[in-house]
Amino acid sequence: MAERFSDVRLGRAVQRIQPESGEIEFVDGERLVFDRVVGAVPGPILDRLIDGVDRAAEDGREPEIGEVREWSVRKSRTRMARAVKVVLEFDRPWWREKNWTGRMICDLPCQQTWEIGRGNLHALGCYVCGDEAKWLVRREDSVDVALRALSEIHPEASRYFMGGIVQDWIHDEYSWGAFPYYPPGSAPRSLQFKVIDPDMAAGVVSERKSWVGPWGRLHVAGDWACSWMGFIEGALESAERVAGEI
Ligand SMILES: Cc1cc2nc3c(=O)[nH]c(=O)nc-3n(C[C@H](O)[C@H](O)[C@H](O)COP(=O)(O)OP(=O)(O)OC[C@H]3O[C@@H](n4cnc5c(N)ncnc54)[C@H](O)[C@@H]3O)c2cc1C
Repeated sequence: MAERFSDVRLGRAVQRIQPESGEIEFVDGERLVFDRVVGAVPGPILDRLIDGVDRAAEDGREPEIGEVREWSVRKSRTRMARAVKVVLEFDRPWWREKNWTGRMICDLPCQQTWEIGRGNLHALGCYVCGDEAKWLVRREDSVDVALRALSEIHPEASRYFMGGIVQDWIHDEYSWGAFPYYPPGSAPRSLQFKVIDPDMAAGVVSERKSWVGPWGRLHVAGDWACSWMGFIEGALESAERVAGEI
């Protein structure tokens, strides 16, 4: 298989896709034409690669950070959710010592916490979504804000804190957010949403195949073009579909 794909080019960002002709334009300006193109990027990014005109361009101005990704709902009909993670590292797993798993949902700016350390790395992850995620990552003291919030409930957090980092998917130009969702009114009518885990607000959509078929030479894959939307399982499901199409 590796021999058949001997001309693999990694680390090449794409800036334009022409679905009908199969032409790809890379960010360095090189253009190549392919028999088949698989677009396996987040839905709103694919929308932008196919149709680069955005509202800011129409208005004749530079887009503000985050603007395009929130506005862009085109052929994919999806957006990427605003979510960030703040990782807080501690010199000991103090939560286990007080018989707490580290799992919490609260209305403070740390929102949801989990234990995410491995081996000797003792860490809690704060998963922050929505407006609060945007507010948090704009601040220079995001880690301190999350730590202070956690410490309001568990004062040990400040005592054993070593350091922290922020993972910002919202402003990552290759993700434009953390996970796909349908904004109100944009889901195709044929879709049915089935809740599989009410506690996690997780669900699947069905009948996804009907509108994600090939467009010219472009085949569409990813965790938004499938029934298990927002999960690795969905990305794999779409890969199997695209392999069948090709
Ligand atoms: C915090 C978090 C927790 C999660 N937890 C789980 C979990 O527990 N279980 C689960 O099943 N799923 C989980 N997911 C979801 C899972 O990560 C995704 O469903 C999965 O990674 C989607 O795979 P994908 O191949 O469709 O897209 P991605 O993994 O997003 O891959 C898309 C690729 O396209 C690249 N790309 C983007 N733009 C361009 C461009 N212009 N040119 C070239 N390349 C480009 C990106 O760099 C990226 O490598 C989680 C997601 C998040 C954010």
